[in-house]
Amino acid sequence: MKYISTRGKAETLDFEGVTMAGLARDGGLYVPESLPTLSADDIRALSGLSYADVAFRIIRPFVAGSLTDAELKAMLDKTYGAAFRHPATAPLVQLGANDWVLELFHGPTLAFKDFALQLLGRFFDHFTAKRGQKLTILGATSGDTGSAAIEGCRGRDNVSIFMLHPKGRVSEVQRRQMTTVIEANVVNIAIDGTFDDCQALVKACFNDHAFRDRVGLTAVNSINWARVMAQIVYYFTAAVALGAPERPVSFSVPTGNFGDIFAGYIAKSMGLNIEKLVIATNSNDILARTLKTGRYERGDVFATLSPSMDIQISSNFERFLFDLAGRSGAGVEAYMDALAAEGGFTLEAGHYAALKAMFAAERVDDTATSDTMKAVFAATGYVADPHTAVGIRAAADCLPATGAPRVTLATAHPAKFGDAVKAATGVDPVLPAHMADLFAREERYITLANDKDALMARVLEGGWS
Ligand SMILES: *Cc1c(COP(=O)(O)O)cnc(C)c1O
Repeated sequence: MKYISTRGKAETLDFEGVTMAGLARDGGLYVPESLPTLSADDIRALSGLSYADVAFRIIRPFVAGSLTDAELKAMLDKTYGAAFRHPATAPLVQLGANDWVLELFHGPTLAFKDFALQLLGRFFDHFTAKRGQKLTILGATSGDTGSAAIEGCRGRDNVSIFMLHPKGRVSEVQRRQMTTVIEANVVNIAIDGTFDDCQALVKACFNDHAFRDRVGLTAVNSINWARVMAQIVYYFTAAVALGAPERPVSFSVPTGNFGDIFAGYIAKSMGLNIEKLVIATNSNDILARTLKTGRYERGDVFATLSPSMDIQISSNFERFLFDLAGRSGAGVEAYMDALAAEGGFTLEAGHYAALKAMFAAERVDDTATSDTMKAVFAATGYVADPHTAVGIRAAADCLPATGAPRVTLATAHPAKFGDAVKAATGVDPVLPAHMADLFAREERYITLANDKDALMARVLEGGWS
């Protein structure tokens, strides 16, 4: 499988190359040159397989030439067998006659990002060993990504991970999920500053090419194609469980960076019978506004009850734009230049029509999020986290009650956002058994000033000895 950049000017790479590179050298994102497709019979044959076996059939063509079948199979069995604490890995729970949630929070850090980052850690391990290279992962987190990345990379031989968080500005559960991982290759750094300061520091390190090459810097955010790829799988397992290919399904996806829902679009493009994909956003509604007006325009970032979606620029939208623009790098570049220069761009009429044909979108504010948590609990006894509640509400608003089954992706465990859940439902959600002692565990992190030189010096020192 070959991968090309959405800006059309970077070198074509294989799967190993795009996994190690993250971002393309021309500033674009890597996408497959062409997509594999599954026939109705191929999809029917997924019925009854384990999650890991479905993953093998879906992922195999994307890694062709970079991993053997035996290597891939071993990685998938380890990832989706042991690391997820539910026999179905991604179970469906029925909430109403035509409504389901797809629980994606049974991994080690209780958020859907584990599906991709558990696997990405194994890819890094494999490719660094093969190349005799070391990698340094540097990231900034306001919550879920940091802990999922740390869990995916902990204890891996050739990988060190440095994760920045804004001091005193992440929840205690989220901080402890990162700082209680005591491993030589995991360094947590609290920065005296905001999340934006943390991101700016990371960017500064990446822009220093000498430093970047010296430590083998790489990123784990959802610009990495391997993350999107891993997320395609659960659209297939859910749809097949609900009757695909005979019966269509619709999905509602709590969305921030457009990574998870883009994986749904890829599943549909590969032949899965998805009727509608709903972009569910909180008050950070750039995508919902784009659907309504045809103009993609940056806005202010608001803090909400669903903080993992408090994002105003959805990086993976560029991958969809590339398809809208007829897979033209020049077309994407024109849009992105306007975004940089004017803070927004207006979609061409044909592109706007194609966007609306593929997606619906709904903005769900904090009041509606709390009301939904409360109403779902009253009607069914189900306790949804705030991100999931945004999705459930958007599904109800955008999709007909008697059409295709409505599946909302449940992206986080309610105990990760216990305060908001308790305020809405009166229920104090408990952490699963493997994390019950989280508040008693030892923490290890250092604090640094908002200073690039201090950060670089610490990264050069390497992991803990
Ligand atoms: C990251 C995250 C999202 C948003 O996913 P994107 O791929 O960025 O759209 C939604 N919910 C939770 C709980 C998350 O951690």
